[in-house]
Amino acid sequence: MSQTLSSGCDLSNHSTPGRIEVIAGPMFSGKSEELIRRLKGAQIAKRRVLCFKSNLDARYHRTAIASHNSQTLDAQTVANVEGLKSVLFPLIDGIEVIGIDEAQFFDPSLVPLSLELMQLGKRIVIAGLDTTFSGDPFPPIPDLMAVADEVVKLSAVCMQCGAPAVHTQRLGSSQSLVLVGAAGLYEARCRACFRPYVDENASEQLELPAVVS
Ligand SMILES: [Zn+2]
Repeated sequence: MSQTLSSGCDLSNHSTPGRIEVIAGPMFSGKSEELIRRLKGAQIAKRRVLCFKSNLDARYHRTAIASHNSQTLDAQTVANVEGLKSVLFPLIDGIEVIGIDEAQFFDPSLVPLSLELMQLGKRIVIAGLDTTFSGDPFPPIPDLMAVADEVVKLSAVCMQCGAPAVHTQRLGSSQSLVLVGAAGLYEARCRACFRPYVDENASEQLELPAVVS
């Protein structure tokens, strides 16, 4: 019995399932750094790697993922999950490892896509914020964590008191977005120091500042 997936691939050709890895946590917890570390390790192992990021994340590089400590890895910038598919599917047979950074910017269809890629034998490594600036679960990361083979939940250091931080604190008003970089607009906070950010326009929580190249 064969099953054809949305990628056009016939499942019967791929008997060995792949793997889904999720790296979650607040800002400044080293998620991108861990993603880059894993993908560079795969490259050293001679695996063919393709990495994606959302075009909503303009913090550092247009065509690379970057960690706060300036490590980079080339990445394809896409607008959404459909854009990711249109880049990935023509190359799918030649790709073994797929990285996705800032996955909270992608819609929930990233979950079935990840499962499909896993069924095709791919290794998918996904990094993203697991909570919003209000402290709520940030789709689609929670669902990805649920279906993953491995979940790494990183913590940062509270910038107020030094305790382990699980939250991302948004500072100031949204009008300051274009003026200040990520380091001035957000802080990692522990549970005691966190003050949930409330914005009547919930979509603003998807914004990150467009700064520096
Ligand atoms: Zn604290």
